[in-house]
Amino acid sequence: MTAVQKTQPVQAVFDAAAARLGRVGGPRVSFEFFPPKSDKLEEQLWAVIRRLEPLAPSFVSVTYGAGGSTRDRTHRTVSRIVEETSLTPAAHLTCVAASRGEVDDVMRAYWDAGVRHIVALRGDPQGGAGAAYEPHPDGYAYAADLVAGARKIAPFEVSVAVYADKHPDSATWQTEIDNFKRKIDAGATRGISNFFVDADSFLRLRDRLADAGITAPIVPGVMPVSNFNGFKRMAAVGGVYVPDWFAAIFEGLDDDPETRLLVAAATTGELCARLAAEGVEDFHFYTLNRAELTLAICRMLGVKAQKEVAQ
Ligand SMILES: Cc1cc2nc3c(=O)[nH]c(=O)nc-3n(C[C@H](O)[C@H](O)[C@H](O)COP(=O)(O)OP(=O)(O)OC[C@H]3O[C@@H](n4cnc5c(N)ncnc54)[C@H](O)[C@@H]3O)c2cc1C
Repeated sequence: MTAVQKTQPVQAVFDAAAARLGRVGGPRVSFEFFPPKSDKLEEQLWAVIRRLEPLAPSFVSVTYGAGGSTRDRTHRTVSRIVEETSLTPAAHLTCVAASRGEVDDVMRAYWDAGVRHIVALRGDPQGGAGAAYEPHPDGYAYAADLVAGARKIAPFEVSVAVYADKHPDSATWQTEIDNFKRKIDAGATRGISNFFVDADSFLRLRDRLADAGITAPIVPGVMPVSNFNGFKRMAAVGGVYVPDWFAAIFEGLDDDPETRLLVAAATTGELCARLAAEGVEDFHFYTLNRAELTLAICRMLGVKAQKEVAQ
C-alpha cells in the first residue's frame, strides 16, 4: 500500500505562521495569572511562571479580585514579576467599590514599581452573578472612564476587555461595538477577548469591528477547560455560548481529570489552529495558574522557548 502524503491541520498552521512571521517560532502569546491566596499557592504559581517564562510571552497579566479584594496580592505578584523575571507584566484594575482617588493611588504605585501596562476593566457587580452594576458614587463608572484616568496618570499602555459573544449588559452588538470604540478612543491600544468556545464568535467580532472602522487589534482569550463545571459557571455569568457538542464532550469528565486534560488539549489546540489559519497572530491564555495545557497548545502553535531566561 502506498502512503498518501497529506498536510495535517496542525502542520499547515505551523508552516503558515512561520511563513507569515518570517521565522519559526509561531505566533505571539501572552499569559494571564491570578494572585495566589496562600504561601503554598504562591509557590505553585512561581513554578508555573518559571515554566512559561522561556516562551518569551509579549506580556503576562495578573487579575484583580472582585471589589479590589486582591489589591495587595495583585500588587505583590506584579512587583515580583518586575523584580525577579525577564517578563513584562500587565496589572488588571477595576472600577468597582473604589473612589477615583483610591484607584489613582493604585495606578501611581504601579507606575512607581515599574509597571507600564494596565488592563482596565469595569469589574463585575459586587452583588455577584446576575446583580445589577452600580458605579461607585465617587469612582470611575465604566472601563472607558478608567482608561482615560490611567492615561492621565502616566503614559501607560492600556488593554481592555472585548467580548466574542457580547457582554451580557450590552443589549445589542451596536452597543458592544460603540463601547469598545469608546475605550479605544479614550486611549486603549488593544482588546483582549473573554474566552469563547466557537472560533466563529471571535472571527465575527473581528469582522464587526473592521466593518465599524476600528483598527485596534483584538487578541483572542483562550481558556482550556480545567474543570468543566467551573467553566460552565463562568460561561453562564459572561454570556459565553457553549455549543451542545462541546458540553457533550466534557460532560462527566470532572471525575476523570486525566481524560479531561487530553480532551482539553485537543479541543483548545483545534480552536487555536482554526484561529491561526484565519490569520490570528496573538493569543492570550487564561492559564488559571497552571502550565501544562498552555505549554501543550503553545507547542501546537509552534511557540517554544525562544531565549535564555535571565537568572
Ligand atoms: C480580558 C479580561 C480580563 C478581565 N479581568 C478581570 C479582573 O482582573 N478582575 C475582574 O473583577 N474582572 C475581570 N474581567 C471581567 C470584567 O470585569 C467583566 O466582564 C465586567 O462585567 C465588564 O468589564 P468591562 O471592562 O468589559 O466593562 P465596560 O467596558 O465598562 O462595559 C461593561 C458593560 O457596560 C456597558 N456600558 C459601558 N459604558 C456604559 C455607560 N456609560 N452607560 C451604560 N452602560 C455602559 C457596556 O456596553 C457593557 O455592556 C475581565 C474580563 C476580560 C475579558
